Amino acid sequence: MDHHDLLSGLVRLHILHHAAQHPVYGQWMIDELGRHGYRLSPGTLYPMLSKMERDGYLSSTTERDGRTSRKFYAITDLGREGLAVAKIQLKELKGEAGTS
Ligand SMILES: [Zn+2]
Repeated sequence: MDHHDLLSGLVRLHILHHAAQHPVYGQWMIDELGRHGYRLSPGTLYPMLSKMERDGYLSSTTERDGRTSRKFYAITDLGREGLAVAKIQLKELKGEAGTS
C-alpha cells in the first residue's frame, strides 16, 4: 500500500467499522478494502488484525470447516469506543478539508 503510515489509521478504522456490523475475516476484508481503493496484501493485513486484537480493539474466534479454519474478528467495547471517537474526528477533518 502506498503511503502506508499515513493511511494505515484509516484502514484500521475501516476494519473497525465493518467489524462493528458483522465479524470479518482476512480475505473478506482485503476484498472490501480493495473496493475502496486500498490495495493490501495478506502480509500487511494479517499483522494489522493481530495487532488490533492485541490492543483490545478486536476479538477473534476460529471457525473450523473440515480441514480448513478461518479466523473471524469482531469489534470489542474498546473498539466501539475508539470508532466513535474517530468518527467525530473524521467529521471534523471532513468539515475543514471540504472547505479548502
Ligand atoms: Zn467498507
